[in-house]
Amino acid sequence: DRVKIRTALLSVFDKTGVVDLARALNDLGVRLLSTGGTYKALIEAGLPATDVSDVTGFPEIMDGRVKTLHPSVHGGLLAIRDDEEHVEAMRAHKIEAIDLAVINLYPFEAVLAAGGDYPTTVENIDIGGPAMIRASAKNHAYVTVVTDPADYTQLLDVLKADDCQTPYALRQQFAARAYARTAAYDATISNWFADALAIEAPRHRVIGGSLREEMRYGENPHQKAGFYVSGDQRPGVATAKLLQGKQLSYNNINDTDAAFELVSEFLPENGPACAIIKHANPCGVAVGKTLADAYRRALACDSVSAFGGIIALNQTLDAETAEEIVKLFTEVIIAPDVTDEAKAIIARKANLRLLVTGGLADPRAPGLTAKTVSGGLLVQSRDNLVVEDLDLKVVTKRAPTASELEDMKLAFKIAKHVKSNAVIYAKDGQAVGIGAGQMSRVDSARIAAMKAEDAAKALGLGEPLTRGSAVASEAFYPFADGLLAAIAAGATAVIQPGGSMRDAEVIAAADEHNVAMVFTGVRHFRH
Ligand code: 5GP
Repeated sequence: DRVKIRTALLSVFDKTGVVDLARALNDLGVRLLSTGGTYKALIEAGLPATDVSDVTGFPEIMDGRVKTLHPSVHGGLLAIRDDEEHVEAMRAHKIEAIDLAVINLYPFEAVLAAGGDYPTTVENIDIGGPAMIRASAKNHAYVTVVTDPADYTQLLDVLKADDCQTPYALRQQFAARAYARTAAYDATISNWFADALAIEAPRHRVIGGSLREEMRYGENPHQKAGFYVSGDQRPGVATAKLLQGKQLSYNNINDTDAAFELVSEFLPENGPACAIIKHANPCGVAVGKTLADAYRRALACDSVSAFGGIIALNQTLDAETAEEIVKLFTEVIIAPDVTDEAKAIIARKANLRLLVTGGLADPRAPGLTAKTVSGGLLVQSRDNLVVEDLDLKVVTKRAPTASELEDMKLAFKIAKHVKSNAVIYAKDGQAVGIGAGQMSRVDSARIAAMKAEDAAKALGLGEPLTRGSAVASEAFYPFADGLLAAIAAGATAVIQPGGSMRDAEVIAAADEHNVAMVFTGVRHFRH
């Protein structure tokens, strides 16, 4: 199962380590073929290389769009070495076997990330490279293919130890890596088109992306993890710039995403807003007169849980807000931008990660979300409905006051970003109680009310903050009990999807307590 490497084809965009690899291969007696730029690099390093054009008898044409797409190359990679017909074809057409292919691709992902224009991005779709990688990997019975400079050492160690031969198992391993590379590459290209065309249908999109980084561990220390990016360049956790602090962990990325998606529902022109996230759920959300005010009000909702949280802001982080934030232990701050003054303040906390995104995410944008299940993936379009666009219907005798209506909308906006069952109390532009992730809606209502009582105590207030609040439920109340629990906590206005068989019962309970209720007609399950 061992194959001796006599001829290698090197064609790399990323020239990292290629000269050293070629030199070592040359020392082992391997003949070197290569394409234009790679050839030049080898010749300049004083290595004996053959230009692949001399093998094909055909020049590189069309700005390199066609350089290795030739039977002499692909025949050399694909021939079955012990098949008589294949051997005869090689002889008849003067095709030489190529035993090793060292290839990495045009930097499509990097060009995309750098915001390349349309023609530049298109031109960076590599054609010949993936063709050679796939051909070599298919013929792994004979051919060794390396697609990542990080694998050069492993290859050389094996070759040096075993008379310039590779074992089957290694060629298989490299073939698997090769197809992972081309699959990720094409997925990124496909998603770039899909994003540009706002394609949502799962069957016209590829779920996947390129591995951007490996994390030290996953959700727990015994789990391995990596961050795959789709190539989507819109503001978000994947494209944000880390200005300071350690690499983000798996949980940080998950929570930061939740925080930024939530705060992005608050347009900067409507005033400052802040969301604080713990374990993917908000423990505080508020708008404020200033950004620092929004932060303080978000923190007041549940200052105990906010410890070690993730803070998302909808406006440029300023000095006053930075001074407030550094008083408490926080894992991550994410904001559209940061002033120099604020940056200097945050710098005092070396471990605090600061991310800037350059803007907010568009809550109405299309896109897909995915979640794994055993043996597969569940894919759906993202929940891109926003409360401002919904047709709210008053169903009770009493209509909400203007301020109740504002708080209802705020509570429902937050509910969309809270694990079900979600019950949120809001008052004066501030979440005052958040009940998340309970199996019973009544329990969520009670927990939210209990947290509000705790907050009132912590703030030295006489009565719980839920008194006179608006309450949101992300799904309908199947019975009146959940609503009654909210009314018991002091809610005077309710927002919920409606649509239960017992709506009449729930509406009657609201009327009985002079509570105003609106139906949104839209549900925001989040599991
Ligand atoms: P070089 O710098 O050696 O001129 O080019 C290396 C790059 O060209 C590699 O990234 C390789 O994948 C790519 N490549 C090799 N052959 C072809 C081809 O026939 N067409 C295109 N578009 N790219 C190729």
